Amino acid sequence: MKILQNVMEQVISRNPGEPEFHQAVREVLESLEVVAEKHPEWVAAGIFDRIVEPERQIIFRVPWVDDKGKVHVNRGIRIQFNSAIGPYKGGLRLHPSVNTSILKFLGFEQIFKNSLTSLPIGGGKGGSDFDPKGKSDNEVMRFCQSFMTELSKHIGADTDVPAGDIGTGAREIGYMYGQYKRLRNEYTGVLTGKGLTWGGSLVRTEATGYGLCYFMDEALKARGKSFKGSTVVVSGSGNVAIYAAQKVHELGGKVVALSDSNGYIYDPDGIKLDTVKQIKEVERKRISEYVNIHTNATYTEGCSGIWSIKCDIALPSATQNEIDEASAKLLVANGCYAVGEGANMPSTPEAVEVFLKNKIIYGPAKAANAGGVATSALEMCQNSMRYSWSFEEVDAKLKEIMVNIYRNASSAAKEYGFEDNLVAGANIAGFLKVANAMYSHGIAY
Ligand code: NDP
Repeated sequence: MKILQNVMEQVISRNPGEPEFHQAVREVLESLEVVAEKHPEWVAAGIFDRIVEPERQIIFRVPWVDDKGKVHVNRGIRIQFNSAIGPYKGGLRLHPSVNTSILKFLGFEQIFKNSLTSLPIGGGKGGSDFDPKGKSDNEVMRFCQSFMTELSKHIGADTDVPAGDIGTGAREIGYMYGQYKRLRNEYTGVLTGKGLTWGGSLVRTEATGYGLCYFMDEALKARGKSFKGSTVVVSGSGNVAIYAAQKVHELGGKVVALSDSNGYIYDPDGIKLDTVKQIKEVERKRISEYVNIHTNATYTEGCSGIWSIKCDIALPSATQNEIDEASAKLLVANGCYAVGEGANMPSTPEAVEVFLKNKIIYGPAKAANAGGVATSALEMCQNSMRYSWSFEEVDAKLKEIMVNIYRNASSAAKEYGFEDNLVAGANIAGFLKVANAMYSHGIAY
């Protein structure tokens, strides 16, 4: 980096101890050096300096009482990163690892992802270090109500529209929406991922996983490959992983492995998704239960071993930095020719290097998992119209959006001299639209 080196240095000194945020910014700025060369007016207007600084960060106390009457305090955070092209939009993560570094990395990535969908949504992210695992429904409800009591002061259907993410599924969105409605006395599309009887959109549950497969299908086709007859490894067993696996099966591939934060299952006959849904979505148990039902499958403790399973296509769909350099090398050595990221930033920078060097068909998260937020924007659209589209209508729109994201990222990569590099292509295509809007809006003196 030359022109943008000082921007990177400023990010590091202004955000000490935030390695995930630094990692996400560095990856984007490296792709944007060529854009900075071409647009000196954006450099002069401080677009690059401004885009790495969140417009607003809200940090708040979330007290709640457990079933035994004990008081707990968690920390709530909302990063309102960029509203140049629309209201802030991005999920709420509930996981003990949540901190400002992780939410800033996610919020920053969200700006470009949302721009790539071509829908009018800005970038944001939020969450808490609360762990819903092992809590009763009533405890989760009390936490969600306390969290929303403060968050409701800062969001709104035209201001900031949060959604689900790790640990925030239909149950949590329901409790949060109920509390927002109670406090504000208004029935608006302030959250997405809502239940179908109270403003949700068909396909939202499936959207990220399905969208990932639509994107990868297009990328595979461009290189003369397809899901048909392929062996696929998917990490995670949450919302993204389950519906990615479902679409892979529909497209003629065979998913042989899934995981959770304790370990992974391998079923050489193909994972039976009905069993996984029952274990993870209904019973909220561990993935290891699967082998009690399907005895030809095996369970291995620990997560990273999943990448040693021989496969054609890998779809990391659990969490950030789950594929390191060694795992990436193992995947390539075992003949894997495509990697599509369902999770956000699941590959370390060293792993990405391995994929690019070996000409792997690599779909970066920003582009490949944008189907979730795209369908959230379609949910907002239906809420504004007070109308619902059919499953087929939303699915068709999702597919069209994902195909267009692939094409836009691919052609931006070509135009800026990074042919077949979808990382650079997605960063550039996502950035151009936001930078244009920021430039038009001027600087606040
Ligand atoms: P879920 O909470 O539904 O599922 C997460 C899955 O990943 C679970 O199987 C979980 O295991 C596992 N996991 C979580 N943390 C870790 C960890 N530290 N190490 C190993 N495994 C872990 O979340 P989602 O499926 O919604 O999200 C998965 C990823 O996709 C995240 O990166 C998220 O940001 C991204 N994403 C999600 C979108 C969505 O629409 N939901 C949209 C775009 C991106 P366990 O059950 O043990 O916790």
